[in-house]
Amino acid sequence: MGERVAKFESQFADFCQTRHAVAVASGTDALALSLRALGAGGGEVITSAHTAIATIAAIELAGATPVLADINPLSRCVDIGSVASLLNERTRAIVPVHIYGHPADINGLRKLVAGADIAIVEDCAQAHGATLEGCPVGGLGDAGAFSFYPTKTIGAMGDAGAIVTNSDELFRTLRSLRQYGWDRHRMSQRSGQNSRMDTLQAAILSMQLAGFEERFERRQLIAQRYRDALSHQPHIEAPGIMPGIRHGYHQFVVQCENRDALASALEAGGVESGRHYACPVHAHPAYGGLRRAESLAEVEKLYDRMLSIPIYPELGDEEVDVICHILTTWRGEGEGR
Ligand SMILES: *Cc1c(COP(=O)(O)O)cnc(C)c1O
Repeated sequence: MGERVAKFESQFADFCQTRHAVAVASGTDALALSLRALGAGGGEVITSAHTAIATIAAIELAGATPVLADINPLSRCVDIGSVASLLNERTRAIVPVHIYGHPADINGLRKLVAGADIAIVEDCAQAHGATLEGCPVGGLGDAGAFSFYPTKTIGAMGDAGAIVTNSDELFRTLRSLRQYGWDRHRMSQRSGQNSRMDTLQAAILSMQLAGFEERFERRQLIAQRYRDALSHQPHIEAPGIMPGIRHGYHQFVVQCENRDALASALEAGGVESGRHYACPVHAHPAYGGLRRAESLAEVEKLYDRMLSIPIYPELGDEEVDVICHILTTWRGEGEGR
């Protein structure tokens, strides 16, 4: 929590075009502290059934109960109608996840909760650099939670996270919560915890931020090459794009009927692919009992069909060529692994 932490906070607030940023120890903490500060504890928090388990863990850490909504098949982010079907008098917050870097429909959610005392906390752990109608994610809801885990689009050399907000009051509460509920005189004004960012990580993150645009452009370029390769491929669907968004391309997740066969074809060409995630939230033994939307049909459909293709700035042009070649020539056939 040295000077470099304060410096990074101010740089990151600029990056997100928000009034404030608060550095914390992880993305999970960023979500949990935001929800706690916004008074979600003891109530229900609606989120997507298609997310990293960290989202669910964070809601529970805040003392709230997660509730699972279905997704929009195009954006793969939470579906507004499904969220609407889950609202009740216990709902305290909604956590839209900008999954894979595609911004969720925050405007739709804001309209849905207008006039109600329900907070919106954006899960931006996969969406550094993504924008909605030209505005960076993070400042669109009441708070935006980021992770800088090493594999994220902006990564530290260990765990780190940050919360951005335009609210002065929320900012003050968060600064206190992350360090034992202290005020300036180290008097605990509320119950808090230890969620500090290491000065070392802050220094590394300032460097990462300085090199961000170049690395981000490279992701966009690779994504465009994949899209071109898939434009005449009837067996594989490229990721959907809602109007007015800039995709963060944390992952490039295609969909196809014979997903395991595509994974094998890639593997035969020396290309690793992955599934994000192995199963939806409600299929985990710990979370089978969570309240959920009557239908999670779109989530279920996605899990049978999705495959993540490599995307990261260090991927070389020849490597992208190899992947594009497999993507264009695959016939939709073959055996799964
Ligand atoms: C990585 C991730 C998190 C958690 O971040 P950590 O820094 O690992 O705690 C939360 N939500 C999503 C969607 C993530 O991908």
